[in-house]
Amino acid sequence: MLPLISTVPQTLSPSLSFHFHPFPSSSTPSLSLHIPLKNTLRIRSIDAAQPYDYESHLRTQHLKSQSLKIAILGFGNFGQFLSKTLSRQGHTLLAYSRSDYTDIAKNLGVTFYSNPHDLFESHPEVVILCTSILSTEKVLQTLPFQRLKRSTLIVDVLSVKEFAKNILLKYLPVEFDILCTHPMFGPESGKISWVGLPFVYDKVRIGNEEDRITRVERFLDVFAKEGCRMVEMTCAEHDRYAAGSQFVTHTMGRVLERFGLDSSPINTKGYDTLLDLVENTGGDSFELYYGLFMYNKNAMEQLERLDMAFEAIKKELFGKLHHVYRKQLFGNADEGAEERPKVQKLLHNGAPPSDDVVKQETS
Ligand code: NAP
Repeated sequence: MLPLISTVPQTLSPSLSFHFHPFPSSSTPSLSLHIPLKNTLRIRSIDAAQPYDYESHLRTQHLKSQSLKIAILGFGNFGQFLSKTLSRQGHTLLAYSRSDYTDIAKNLGVTFYSNPHDLFESHPEVVILCTSILSTEKVLQTLPFQRLKRSTLIVDVLSVKEFAKNILLKYLPVEFDILCTHPMFGPESGKISWVGLPFVYDKVRIGNEEDRITRVERFLDVFAKEGCRMVEMTCAEHDRYAAGSQFVTHTMGRVLERFGLDSSPINTKGYDTLLDLVENTGGDSFELYYGLFMYNKNAMEQLERLDMAFEAIKKELFGKLHHVYRKQLFGNADEGAEERPKVQKLLHNGAPPSDDVVKQETS
């Protein structure tokens, strides 16, 4: 729109002619006015229909050049969740799963294939493995990779990373690129926005060719564009951190779910946080949780630490109770004999210890 102002009297009808050039050098159509009037003409606004929406055409062209043909294998809870954002961003989506999701896929703008051979023959540039941790190795052994292009990028989103990396390296043809990722959020925690949510990735095997490097960057950009916090780290590092954070979170959520939390009229903020935790973790399948335990070698240690921490707290409480009881029985006769037990952190919260901590502990 041109920001011009008009002072033409209402009674006058000047003859105006507009000349549009469909392909101007700038993105704004040029316009000229021929006014056979002495009065100066100032136009307040021009609402003429544009014969050619040049800017939107450019935008569409740009989006097309950025868009990827992506196949999702395993169209369950997480596969569907991912596809909503990928579809909104304009990528072409195909999916295959053991169960039939044709109708759901249709509603999400995804083409569903009931046979992986057919899907692979449409040559997606990127294949995302969204199958459960427990089934992925078996699924990998049955997929017809020979039907894909030799340069295909295979991405996984499994919540355990060393295991994923090892099986991808074991079963995929050497020509394929491998990107191991873990979006550290899901249908509950990422329901409204992905802004600030961590996206962990490890470029396990990416060819040197420019188009392969660009393709990985375009894929990662899907998450960067949504505002995710992009964290590049090795699969082993991921598993150490995730056992101390994600696995513990899921465990506490499931323990509290079994315990049975009810909302009350006087919920504190802390209690609301617990209710949220139960809701957040309750939506995930038990298979996923079991996979976090089975296929992350650090998980067992964290479970034992949790158990020990719970016992230590109980011991401290019962120790105090014992103290009060003795006081009632024996008066102040043995005052000062019992000191408050020192609170000890059990290990390193799952994360690798910092150099300072190591120095302190070894000195
Ligand atoms: P899930 O229970 O871990 O996996 C369900 C998916 O696995 C479904 O697509 C299912 O296919 C497929 N599957 C299960 N057993 C199979 C088998 N024997 N053969 C073939 N396919 C099988 O739940 P999810 O939440 O959808 O997670 C999918 C992946 O995303 C997992 O690897 C998980 O670690 C990862 N992830 C999940 C989250 C999350 O918040 N949920 C976050 C980050 C990463 P059908 O539905 O066709 O049976």
